[in-house]
Amino acid sequence: MNDNKIMLKEKLYGKTLNELIAVTKRVKLPGFAAKQITDWLYKKEISSIDEMTNLSKKMREVLSVDYEIGLAAPVNVMESSDGTKKYLYNVLKDKYIETAYIPEDDRATICVSSQAGCKMGCIFCMTGRQGFQGNLSSNEILNQFRSLPEFKTLTNMVYMGMGEPLDNITEVMKSLEIVTNEWGYGWSPTRITVSTVGLTSTIKEFLVKSRCHLAVSLHSPFDEERRKLMPIQHTNTVKEVLDIIRDFDFNSQRRVSFEYILFKGMNDTPAHIKELARILNGIKCRINIIRFHQIPGSELKSPDHEAANSFKEALNAKGILTTIRNSRGEDIRAACGLLSTLEQNKQVKS
Ligand code: SF4
Repeated sequence: MNDNKIMLKEKLYGKTLNELIAVTKRVKLPGFAAKQITDWLYKKEISSIDEMTNLSKKMREVLSVDYEIGLAAPVNVMESSDGTKKYLYNVLKDKYIETAYIPEDDRATICVSSQAGCKMGCIFCMTGRQGFQGNLSSNEILNQFRSLPEFKTLTNMVYMGMGEPLDNITEVMKSLEIVTNEWGYGWSPTRITVSTVGLTSTIKEFLVKSRCHLAVSLHSPFDEERRKLMPIQHTNTVKEVLDIIRDFDFNSQRRVSFEYILFKGMNDTPAHIKELARILNGIKCRINIIRFHQIPGSELKSPDHEAANSFKEALNAKGILTTIRNSRGEDIRAACGLLSTLEQNKQVKS
């Protein structure tokens, strides 16, 4: 009976200030308590309601009846020889998601997941093969950040893990509000990038309501080829996404980038360079070339370093700032979705 009660408690961590105001009203705490709770949750980083010592003992008892903080440590970790770590978190009762920690010279980036599995079905992605298993709550998105052992060293955050962030826009926007607001973690939005396949129904909401950087997974400038790689192109075309971006007034601090995984002999030809320059004409942006991490059963291959470099140089010569993203953590299967797929299979067998 008691166990059931504990399981049903609602989590305070991951709630916005407005949601915490609603909580205080519900349990009849004074209004000012909501701001005090945000301080405890997001600035003082406590892990139990009992540590909220500027709330009276009575208030803490009232709050504890139906609420808990709701933090959960990762259940597994793999560490690469280059220092990249891949953490596995348990979410949605029996699902698993991955979170990458990527330390570099002067920065440390966390790559968070926004869904368990994914609906988008991109053919180069293990997460896509898992199918959709559920949206993460703001609590589960931010728990990856707060419960990361390296939390205090983090300088940047990217929503590029499992799932399509703009397909879970409500919870993703809540998590961004908490990270960037003064009453939350107070991070500058320029430290955060949200990556999307280009969902036309929600991209505008993200652009209007946040000031974080936008990254669009492009991977091919040609309709038919992109449809083969990314089924989303059937219903949400790159052209529509680029029209939205062109119409939006970006401030000078905000960055738009296009992610481009290079596949040998497929999307790495001079015709691709020419078409990329044509469709991105007039958009202040950059292209990030990403090396493909091989996934089981796929015939897609990564070109060698020299070919990738020539592709990059050709785009730079066309006036598009292009970089090759460092490939990190290949020895720990850093391609998104591999570790959680293994864990899921293990659970099914046991
Ligand atoms: S690449 Fe991203 S959007 Fe595509 S299937 Fe994988 S997780 Fe989903």
